[in-house]
Amino acid sequence: MKCDVLTLFPDIINAYLNESILKRAQEKNLLEVRVYNIRDFASGRHKIVDDYPFGGGPGMVMKPEPLFKAVEHLRQDGQQRRIILLSPQGTPFTQSLAESFSREQHRLVFICGRYEGVDERVKSSLADEEVSAGDYVLTGGELAALTVIDASARLIPGALGDDRSAEEESFSWGLLDYPHYTRPREFRGMKVPEVLVSGNHKEIWLWRRKEALRKTLKIRPDLIERIGLTDVDKKLISEIKGEH
Ligand code: SAM
Repeated sequence: MKCDVLTLFPDIINAYLNESILKRAQEKNLLEVRVYNIRDFASGRHKIVDDYPFGGGPGMVMKPEPLFKAVEHLRQDGQQRRIILLSPQGTPFTQSLAESFSREQHRLVFICGRYEGVDERVKSSLADEEVSAGDYVLTGGELAALTVIDASARLIPGALGDDRSAEEESFSWGLLDYPHYTRPREFRGMKVPEVLVSGNHKEIWLWRRKEALRKTLKIRPDLIERIGLTDVDKKLISEIKGEH
């Protein structure tokens, strides 16, 4: 996965990328991220990147010119690119979008907005798509870009210590994750469920599936409607409902 990030705050991006799994993914050449300061593409002595909104109103708007110039600069290397503008008005980011980004052969360009956002012509004529981190407004696109890069990069085979980690967690089954326990077996009177120390892999799988179904039914019943329930799932759900 190859990415370019356009931001007014490169340090925010670099600080996160230089730690832990994403750092190792870059060292293993599974992930490449180049970070560019949008201000470097602004004209004039003062390198101004924002201006007052036409029509009045609060706040400043990011000028189109530095962003167009930055993308034109990137395109000089001839690589195919998918230009993504981070925006609360975009397509909500999901695990399936993360899977698609993790397999993307084109370089991904993430444009991080600030202030009141970017000039509309960046959306209409420069970006291929807009992606939202969720239904809330952040101060800038950096955390959203990092969210997208993080969730996507960890799905690249070899990025995690054990690729099975990504196969059985929240959303990969279409469900929320099952509960996890580690040592000690008893902590302040709270015991680890017996089945997890039984060594019976079939029973452990059934328990985990049931607990994932239980949690999803309680917190995100909308997810249950989207997955095709197997006969085993239906039996587990009727057991859960019978417990109440
Ligand atoms: N005025 C804009 C609106 O109401 O849609 C919000 C601008 S926000 C303060 C500044 C920048 O933060 C946006 O241009 C975008 O890049 C980023 N941003 C804010 N919330 C976001 C979200 N939920 N997802 C992705 N990016 C977001």
